[in-house]
Amino acid sequence: MADNTAAIQIRELEVSYGWGRSTTRVLHGITLDVAQGNTVAVVGESGSGKSTLAKALVGSVRPSAGSVTIGGLDVTTTRGARRTAMRRKVQLIPQDPYSSLDPRRTIGEALAEAVDPQRAKVRRHADDIVHWLETVRMPADTLHRYPHELSGGQRQRVAIARGLIVRPEVVIADEITSALDVSVQAEILGLIAKLRVELGLTMLFISHNLAVVRRVSDEVVVLYQGEVVEHGPAAQVYGDPQHEYTRTLLNAVPGAPGFDIEPRQREAA
Ligand code: ADP
Ligand code: MG
Repeated sequence: MADNTAAIQIRELEVSYGWGRSTTRVLHGITLDVAQGNTVAVVGESGSGKSTLAKALVGSVRPSAGSVTIGGLDVTTTRGARRTAMRRKVQLIPQDPYSSLDPRRTIGEALAEAVDPQRAKVRRHADDIVHWLETVRMPADTLHRYPHELSGGQRQRVAIARGLIVRPEVVIADEITSALDVSVQAEILGLIAKLRVELGLTMLFISHNLAVVRRVSDEVVVLYQGEVVEHGPAAQVYGDPQHEYTRTLLNAVPGAPGFDIEPRQREAA
């Protein structure tokens, strides 16, 4: 599936942790393209290497072999100002925004800093901040709030706004609903489903739950022990899974949020 216009190109990516005899390889030759404007769900059980893949994409772990290219720039070899620019092109939304939001700073300050680290003035960027808060369906006055004043779901909306305010080329969402209650999880999935259509996001949406990703994916990649065991259009992976492990994942999740909701068309309507 080589595609030179892909927003994300991953080629024979290998990542190992540790040194010498205690080296453990966690990703084994991952090859994957994500086309501009597409969302690819990456699904696999805990420990399958999903977060390691996310980290390799943002350059916080170094591949032992292979390459990751984003917007035409190699994540591992690009240096200097181009690297700084590239870092903004790829935004990682973490599972737990509470740990990444400074408790002493308002939401407005956090968003101002994301948009302009040098001159992080809320007033200067207020219009932009309010626009992105409203985009994630949060009231404008959230900008005066502190993280502890918000619920888990609201913090996750803020984390999404903070990722989007820099207008990234690629968004990586790593288990962003996993820490939330089921009903809140469904709300956030609904929001992501809308935003990816409205904004034409290019996204890697990571989850351990195959049911969760259904309404937020064009394609699904199944990761098992650091290898891609299945990759195809979402309808095909759900309707006619090829790999035994995918079938196990599908059987593990009836009734999970989003499972009975038809993907995409509904949000686009
Ligand atoms: P997932 O996100 O799918 O749960 P991870 O990428 O976090 O998987 O982890 C994949 C494997 O790599 C696991 O066996 C995990 O224990 C191991 N691992 C993750 N991070 C590190 C690290 N910093 N040092 C050593 N091993 C790690
Ligand atoms: Mg993880």
